[in-house]
Amino acid sequence: MASLDTRLDELPKVKPAELKALEKLGLRTVRDLLLNLPANLETFGAPLPISDLQADGKATVIGTLTSIGARKTRYKHLALTEATLSDDAGGRLKIVWFRMPWIAKQLHEGDRIAVAGEAKLSGYGASWEMRNPLHERVAGPGGPQRVGGLMPRYRLSEGITNKKIGDLVESLLHLAGELDDPLPPETRLRNRLPGIAEAIREGHRPQTEEQWRRARNRMVFTDLLALQIYFLQHRRKLESEPATPVPYVQAVIDQFKAGVGFELTNAQRRATWEVFQDLEKPVPMNRLLNGEVGSGKTAVAAAAVAMTHAAGLQSIVMAPTEILARQHLLKFRSYLEESFPDLRVDLLVSGLPAAERRRVTMAVASGQTALLVGTHALIEEKVQIPNLGLAVVDEQHRFGTRQRELLRSKGSGRPHFLAMTATPIPRTLVLTIYGEMKVSEIGELPPGRAPVATTVIWPEEREEAYRLVRQEVAAGRQAFVICPLIEESEKLEAKAATIEFERLRSEVFPDLRLALVHGKLKDKDQVMRSFAAGESDVLVATPVVEVGVDVPNATVMLIEGADRFGLAQLHQFRGRVGRGAHRSHCLLLADEPSETARFRLNLVAREHNGFRLAEQDLELRGAGELIGSRQHGVSDLAMEQLRNPTLVDEAREEAAKLVAADPDLDRNPALAAAVERLLDRMAMS
Ligand code: ADP
Ligand code: MG
Repeated sequence: MASLDTRLDELPKVKPAELKALEKLGLRTVRDLLLNLPANLETFGAPLPISDLQADGKATVIGTLTSIGARKTRYKHLALTEATLSDDAGGRLKIVWFRMPWIAKQLHEGDRIAVAGEAKLSGYGASWEMRNPLHERVAGPGGPQRVGGLMPRYRLSEGITNKKIGDLVESLLHLAGELDDPLPPETRLRNRLPGIAEAIREGHRPQTEEQWRRARNRMVFTDLLALQIYFLQHRRKLESEPATPVPYVQAVIDQFKAGVGFELTNAQRRATWEVFQDLEKPVPMNRLLNGEVGSGKTAVAAAAVAMTHAAGLQSIVMAPTEILARQHLLKFRSYLEESFPDLRVDLLVSGLPAAERRRVTMAVASGQTALLVGTHALIEEKVQIPNLGLAVVDEQHRFGTRQRELLRSKGSGRPHFLAMTATPIPRTLVLTIYGEMKVSEIGELPPGRAPVATTVIWPEEREEAYRLVRQEVAAGRQAFVICPLIEESEKLEAKAATIEFERLRSEVFPDLRLALVHGKLKDKDQVMRSFAAGESDVLVATPVVEVGVDVPNATVMLIEGADRFGLAQLHQFRGRVGRGAHRSHCLLLADEPSETARFRLNLVAREHNGFRLAEQDLELRGAGELIGSRQHGVSDLAMEQLRNPTLVDEAREEAAKLVAADPDLDRNPALAAAVERLLDRMAMS
């Protein structure tokens, strides 16, 4: 007898390929299977007599098979199962299943079945036909259980069919009553949610769409609640360990303002103030700077570094790539060196010569280095930073919770922690990805930045794009050309970029100075630096420049294959220009844009607010694209929230109540288990 904890591989009739597919979906036990409600419902409607069918409509029909047989087509030897279904009123429906020869073995003449699918008139309007309908044997007078009416649609992965999942669930549904409900009765009452057994039964086999929605809503609420509880507990754990307070010193901020080279924006000032307040506490800061592209997050981090230094502590800044780390080095130096001559900034990246590396490691270990800038690779190494007071991470959506933990363990105590987003992240998503952190939002750009004029360029207008590049270069400006994203490999991407570079150099801009940078290039930093120094006019690049190079003299961003990028990513590219005083342009080129691609690109052209754009991106492509595939459990949740944004607030409130009353959930083991399961699913623990 199966129980909730029975592993799916212990069940009879589950093939190895199906097990693998289920595993991919995160389903390992009977419990997992039951808790996994259909992601969607398909509506075929109640069964109809064949004579009432409508052309090209979805429909359900019940009848008796009057013939069924399998054959292969002469051309291509395609396996066909052909059948005829007659209903009680004498109507006839032809059925064809492609590539499903086994159906002819399972069903026989005289069987009573229900089919659901698209009905079409065939044979010059002479007879009704359905291709590849869903089917189910109908026994007794009860009518079909799963085919027709509302068809549950499960998330699938290669190797498993919707029917198979449905059948498995069906055979196990009687165990629903044994599930412990992680939601306490008060919580259910307060939020008007059904109990778990009811939700599982109705969610898998709904009579109405409303039932399914209610059940699903309850399951999503449970996940959101579990996640928020995790964040609260995690935050509590982080704050239970002491950090060295960094006292606020007015003279330091005055000095910083005098040397940074510009007036801080209001948003920067507010964020800086929030950071200083956190730093003063004897518990580690845990804050996210969620900022618009180009909003000046680096300056906020630099102010924190200065204050930390004044307290006699060291800081590290981590960047996702070497190029960006080097740029950070320059930026931090330029912000800090004038006002704080004794604040020594060093760089540690994998590409350093051995002697330099030794020198830096020594300087860090001896405490001479006040700020160490490096790549993520840094944390994988055994660099010890004796007086680490502040760790800053330029996130780029690539930093997992585990990595953050590693980073925190670099010093002897717990450092204060500050993360910066690469592109703005919508609020709902922030709560699901960075829920344990406090957030400072920077929505404002430094003054004097005109919005980057963004144009979608159709293939026949390509010449105009080149003309604009030429015109800007003639005026002393520079341009980026971003090559299409090629996901298969960095090597292919590099190759395509090289070909495009050669073409542009020989055919389009023979008179301009072109440079090329791609991931496989050894001296890419050299190329970037020389471009930043104005030694080339046009930089042809694979999407590597995305990570935030700062070249104020560049005024054109031309993006090839723009339809392959996410909106947030396009916005990030666009943020590479318009950083200086000159009017800038972003040109989005797409070769054969689909209808949706046109829509998305026009959205980028219209919408200059990164937060709003990110929200639209989320709706259009799903959160997985926005935050990377790393935590797709989170992305499913985030999508749900978009459909129902108040749900996350309700879950947060409820989580706060529950944790306040029972911090470790000792009195609610079912909820504690739900938290564990969620973390497991998201690979966060
Ligand atoms: P991001 O938030 O995208 O990381 P950066 O910190 O790289 O942005 O800042 C973008 C550019 O704006 C940099 O060249 C920086 O020096 C400049 N900058 C930052 N803050 C201000 C400000 N308050 N006034 C003028 N320029 C600023
Ligand atoms: Mg940045």
